[in-house]
Amino acid sequence: MRSFTTLDLQYAHRFYGFKGEAQYLHGHTGILTIEVEDSVNAGVNMVFPCNEIKKIAWEVLQNFDHALILREDDPLLPAILGVYESQGIKNGAPTNKQKGPAFKTELATAYPECRLVVTKETMTVEGMIKIVYDLLKDKLNIAKITFTSGVNGASQEYGQAYVQERQTEKDRCPLCGISLNENGVCPKCGYKK
Ligand SMILES: [Zn+2]
Ligand SMILES: [Zn+2]
Repeated sequence: MRSFTTLDLQYAHRFYGFKGEAQYLHGHTGILTIEVEDSVNAGVNMVFPCNEIKKIAWEVLQNFDHALILREDDPLLPAILGVYESQGIKNGAPTNKQKGPAFKTELATAYPECRLVVTKETMTVEGMIKIVYDLLKDKLNIAKITFTSGVNGASQEYGQAYVQERQTEKDRCPLCGISLNENGVCPKCGYKK
């Protein structure tokens, strides 16, 4: 069975080099749905607590919220950083508090101090799914990711073989349903296997 949760992300981006109105900077509310697949954990009668899926995902994905997302070769990037620099907000501002830890993957680099994510590929809904999967695949048994942004939407299912292989790797807490750590201890309630 699957547990799923939804997060929304407010972001600005553009499709650099695209011949349409999306080549101009604009904003969206993106809705991301993450489905986690596993057996039902008998102790709590859940696959995985949805608030925990949300917490794990939000930890990294908050870097995309109220953020600017630009492709690495977009000339807007140095231009905007120049303005942030001259305003003294490039390396942070007292009001910029809601920040996840900086990350760098093959597909994206987050600069939480200036609410910027630099991507390797154009940040379409498909591109976002690739980035999200890459960031969360080792943290959750992801079966499907759906991302919608305005009238655009995309989804990707991940193979059952992969999900099953992952299932055997991680035990879940029978008291609160989240994954036990490498020592077989629940990071939330302290239950030990
Ligand atoms: Zn757009
Ligand atoms: Zn627990």
